[in-house]
Amino acid sequence: MTYDAIIVGCGPVGATIGLLLGRAGLRVAVVERQQEIYDKPRAIAIDHEILRVLDNLGVVERLRPYIAPFPASQHFGAKGQLIRRIDMVGEPYPLGYTPSMVFTQPPVEAALRQHAQAYPDVTVELGTELTRFTQSTDGVTLHLRGDSGATRTVSADYVIACDGASSAVREQLGIAFEDLVFDEPWLVVDLQVAEAALQKLPETAVQFCDPARPTTFIIGPGRHRRFEIMLLPGEDPRRMEEPDQVWRLLEKWLTPADATLWRAASYRFHALVAEQWRRGRVLLAGDAAHQQPPFIGQGMCQGIRDVANLVWRLDRVLRGQSGTALLDSYAEERRAHVRELTMRIKAIGHVICERDPVAAEARDARILAEGHGEPRTITRQDIVPPLQRGLLAATAHAANGTLFPQPWVRTKAGRQLLDAACGTGWRLVVDGGSHLAASAAIDDQARALGLRIIRIGAAESAAEGAAREEGLAREEGLAREEDGVVARWFGRYECAAAIVRPDHYVFGVSTDAQSTAVMLSELSSRLQ
Ligand SMILES: Cc1cc2nc3c(=O)[nH]c(=O)nc-3n(C[C@H](O)[C@H](O)[C@H](O)COP(=O)(O)OP(=O)(O)OC[C@H]3O[C@@H](n4cnc5c(N)ncnc54)[C@H](O)[C@@H]3O)c2cc1C
Repeated sequence: MTYDAIIVGCGPVGATIGLLLGRAGLRVAVVERQQEIYDKPRAIAIDHEILRVLDNLGVVERLRPYIAPFPASQHFGAKGQLIRRIDMVGEPYPLGYTPSMVFTQPPVEAALRQHAQAYPDVTVELGTELTRFTQSTDGVTLHLRGDSGATRTVSADYVIACDGASSAVREQLGIAFEDLVFDEPWLVVDLQVAEAALQKLPETAVQFCDPARPTTFIIGPGRHRRFEIMLLPGEDPRRMEEPDQVWRLLEKWLTPADATLWRAASYRFHALVAEQWRRGRVLLAGDAAHQQPPFIGQGMCQGIRDVANLVWRLDRVLRGQSGTALLDSYAEERRAHVRELTMRIKAIGHVICERDPVAAEARDARILAEGHGEPRTITRQDIVPPLQRGLLAATAHAANGTLFPQPWVRTKAGRQLLDAACGTGWRLVVDGGSHLAASAAIDDQARALGLRIIRIGAAESAAEGAAREEGLAREEGLAREEDGVVARWFGRYECAAAIVRPDHYVFGVSTDAQSTAVMLSELSSRLQ
C-alpha cells in the first residue's frame, strides 16, 4: 500500500502532524526509531497558538493535567536590579487560552501518541528507523529497519521529515543550515522540588542577567522547576552535568535535601535555519528544519507552527485541489517566519549572555532608559512576528499574516470557544454589526470556494438574544462573542471581514462587498 504521507520521527512535531493529517482523513504512517518516549523534559514553554492547534485535534483535555500558566519572567541586571519583565498579553485573552503556559513534555507527548488511536488511518510504528529513501516524480520509497534488524520498504506520496536536529533525511538531501551565528554552552537542570523547599525559590520566573553567571529560572507545572545555567570558558560540559557540580551551581537556592535532580544536560544553544525546506516530495519540519536558543521557549512551538501551516496545503495537493507550488509557499512562509523569530530570540540571548561586566552595566542602563528609567514589560506574544510573505492577500495590510483571534461565544451548548462552536478550515469571518453581514452575493461566492461563513456579533440586543437561542450550530448563524475580542480586532484593523486560513492566520481583510469579492477572487486564483 502507498501511504499519502509518511512522517519520519514521532517527537512532538511528528506526532502532531500525524494527528493533523489523520484528522484530514489521509492515510499516514509515523515511523519512530525509539520504542519509548524520551522521558526527560526538553521543551517547557508552550503558547496559546499551539494549544489552539492541539485543541482543534480534541486532545487538550488529556493535556490539561500537565499544563500550567507561565508566570511573568523578571529580568535582573548586573547589580541584581529589575531591568524588565517579559509577560503574557492580558485578558481578555486573544485566543481564549492562557497565552503563555508551561508544560511537562513526556506525558504530553504520550497523550499525543495515545490520541493517534482516534484516527483509524494513522499508523504509528515504533522501533522503526528510516535508513534511507529514494524519490521519483511519482512518490518516495523508504527503507526501514525494525528493532529486530529486519528491513523492508514502504512507499508514500510525500515524506515529512520530523526527525529532529540531526535529521538523517536532511543529511541525505544534502541541505545545509544557514547559521545565524549563535553558539553558547548552557547546562539545563530539571528538578522536582519538595513542597517545603518551594519557598526558597523565586516566586516568578527569573532571568539573572548576571555577567558572572547568566542563569534562567522557570517555574514548571506542579513542583517541576528548571534552571538553565550558562557554562563559563574552561568548564567541561560533561563534568558540569555531574550531581556534585550541579548542586554547587544551585547552592544559592537549594540543597540536595530540597529537591530530586530529574536531569542535568549540557547543550550548545544554536540558531540554525535549513536553506531549503522542500526537495521534491520530501519536506522538513520542526528541529529538522531549524534550531534556536530556548530563551522564550519557542523551538517546539515553531515546529508545531510548521506542521499547522503544512497540513492543509498537503491535504489540498493530495486531493488534487491545488498544484504542488502550494508546498513551496510553506517553505517560503515558514522559513522567513522562523528566521525572523530566531533573530529576535538571538537578540534576547545576546542581552542575557553578556559576560563583560562593563558592557552588562551599559546594557542595563540602555534597557532601563528604554522604559524612561522604569523596568518595561514586553509580552511574549509581541515577540512572535506575523507572517510576512507567502499565501497572503496581495494588497498589503497590517492584519495580513496575523493570527485571527478566538473569542468565547455563547451557544446553545453554553460557553464555547469559537473553533469548537463554529468550526475551522477556510473561513470568511464577518463583523456581524457591519453592512457586509447581510450580503447574500458574498455568501454565495465564499461558499462556492468552500469557505465557512462566520458572523460574529459584538453586542446582543433582545432580538439577537432570541436568535442566539436558536443555536449557533447552524453554519450561517451569528456567533455572539462574550468579551468583544473580535469586535476590537475589526476596529483595530479598520475592516469588516477577514479571510482566515485553516492555520488561523489571516489571508486578507476587507471593508465592503466590493473589496471582499475581489479578495475572494484572488484567493480562488492563488489556491490553484
Ligand atoms: C534545553 C531545551 C529547552 C527547550 N525549551 C523549549 C521550550 O520551552 N519550548 C519549546 O517550544 N521548545 C523548547 N525546546 C525545543 C524543543 O525541545 C524542540 O524544538 C522539540 O523537541 C523538537 O521536536 P521535533 O519533534 O522536531 O524533534 P525531536 O523531539 O528531536 O523528535 C525527533 C524524533 O525523530 C526520531 N528519529 C530521528 N531519526 C530517525 C530515523 N532515522 N527514523 C525514525 N525516527 C527517527 C527521534 O527518535 C525523535 O523521537 C527546548 C530544547 C532544549 C534542548
